[in-house]
Amino acid sequence: MKEKQLLDGIIIHSISGFYYVEAAGFVYECKAKGAFRKEKKSPLVGDRVRVETDGEKGVIVAIEERSSFLVRPPVANIERLFIVASADRPKPNYYVIDKLSAFAVYHNIQPVVVFSKTDLADISAAAEIYRCAGLQVICCSSVTGEGMEELRGLLYRGISAFTGNSGVGKSSILNYLLPELRLETNEISDKLGRGKHTTRSVRLYKYGDGMIADTPGFSSLEIDGAGEPIPKETLADCFPEFRAYTSKCRFYPSCSHTVDKGCAVLEAVRSGDVSLQRHQSYCRLYEDIKNIDPWR
Ligand code: GDP
Repeated sequence: MKEKQLLDGIIIHSISGFYYVEAAGFVYECKAKGAFRKEKKSPLVGDRVRVETDGEKGVIVAIEERSSFLVRPPVANIERLFIVASADRPKPNYYVIDKLSAFAVYHNIQPVVVFSKTDLADISAAAEIYRCAGLQVICCSSVTGEGMEELRGLLYRGISAFTGNSGVGKSSILNYLLPELRLETNEISDKLGRGKHTTRSVRLYKYGDGMIADTPGFSSLEIDGAGEPIPKETLADCFPEFRAYTSKCRFYPSCSHTVDKGCAVLEAVRSGDVSLQRHQSYCRLYEDIKNIDPWR
């Protein structure tokens, strides 16, 4: 009988109760130890785990605390969400960007706004709005190569995922950055870009020291109803540029920041310190969530 050893690794895929854990350069097919069920714990793709293995198969015996986790798509420890919108064809939908970035902030994931296709239109004014809002912004083009090294630098670290409407250029970005992995990329881009999803399972692909999550079912439409909605009291915190003002409202902490009456956020919108467009997205999101039954 082979000697057992303990290894630390990361779950890169899971299917039918099997977890595929990459550890020390190999992928081990693992089961989760039975005790997790009693503790109501369930391993997720992205989890950093400890595996007991005899060299081929293994058992997951411990799960590290997660920095983030999503119910749908089911994935843990995503660090960065690239929210892709094209400078033109199609024109950016700022509400979708704001909704996805609020979703990311709420889930402790760093949103990175990516304006693609910058060879088609000047997007610098919109980029400035997001930079002023405290979000990281990358302007890129898979035609001219602008911004691609910046994207690569971020993708080389931690676990990243992409989202954005169809046609904005996600597949083109991945094909540009991953030519050496074209086969896998095509697989990713088909799923990411064209919505031919046969499965809802997430898979992680190694990229430098980082990993890219292929997350089918991750668009602005699909995050609606994906687990717990953002509580309306927390929504303003998901707009980082509001935070400097929220505690200064006359009716703090119960101000909704949607109607005047001594609201410091609205005052900042009036003085131009907070973008009107971002505030409009906030109000629209607030309207959407204020009637959601918290027990739903
Ligand atoms: P996805 O659906 O988000 O994956 O988008 P695709 O990568 O499939 O791109 C949609 C369309 O936009 C395709 O016709 C691409 O050739 C085109 N496209 C993608 N990136 C760029 C770009 O940087 N510049 C220009 N001009 N067109 C692009």
